[in-house]
Amino acid sequence: MNQSQQEFLKMVERGDKIAMLFAPSFIVDFDYPAIVGMSKSLGAGLVSEITYGCHLVNTHYNHYIKNHKNQKYFINTTCPTIVNLIRTQFPDLEKYLLPDISCALSFIDFYNLLHPDYKLVFISPCVAKRSFETPRLPEWSLTLTFSELRELFIAKNIKAEDYQNTNEQWDKFSRIDTKLYPLDGGLSATARWQEFFPDLKIFIGSGLKSLLPIFMQMKQGTYDKNLLDVCACEGACVGGPCVFNKDLSIQEKRQKVIDYYKRFLDNS
Ligand code: SF4
Repeated sequence: MNQSQQEFLKMVERGDKIAMLFAPSFIVDFDYPAIVGMSKSLGAGLVSEITYGCHLVNTHYNHYIKNHKNQKYFINTTCPTIVNLIRTQFPDLEKYLLPDISCALSFIDFYNLLHPDYKLVFISPCVAKRSFETPRLPEWSLTLTFSELRELFIAKNIKAEDYQNTNEQWDKFSRIDTKLYPLDGGLSATARWQEFFPDLKIFIGSGLKSLLPIFMQMKQGTYDKNLLDVCACEGACVGGPCVFNKDLSIQEKRQKVIDYYKRFLDNS
């Protein structure tokens, strides 16, 4: 068990009230609603996904873009690896970063107001969030990756098949549209950039290899798109390094997210 896993187990042993908050890419590795019952068995009192945080980010970004119409480029800040890359390798572009908020940070801020007595544990597809975002979270918050959570489930003998047919569901404030956030283009689609900013050209891309030449062109001022919806991992967060379902192709991971989204859409 690593330090984060041990910290989590200490929280449980102490009898802390725990809320586990999942990044929307969770569905690549876990089943819903089984994940809710499994998390409760592990020690969580509340279990939710952070899709409402994604909605808060969209609203904030759109407001910012609307009020900075003369700015040439806008780069999303939802991927901490991209933010770190811009700050360290392309400092000339830092002025184009959208306000540095993330789905996890905005949701955790919001959720903390609702549940001030809970310790909030963010479940993430990557360690970048832990490295760059956890230091900005309240000191009692913790980030576990999907892989680390799976190890905890295995250690406690908590199996998905025992929780498949339950009536468990996310705690309130889950949203339907932003379940698509962990896909390429999920941000720009759910923030409705095309509709709200028809005069600005959108670029959607993922994978550092394909993004570096674009940042170079932006640095030279020659890039002809304006709104960037970009992620460091191939295929966006569904391709995160701590997603453990490595046998699935990016297309199969995408499909899992889309199927999950449609389940809610069909029932709305
Ligand atoms: S794209 Fe990759 S590095 Fe960026 S937030 Fe998603 S999983 Fe983390």
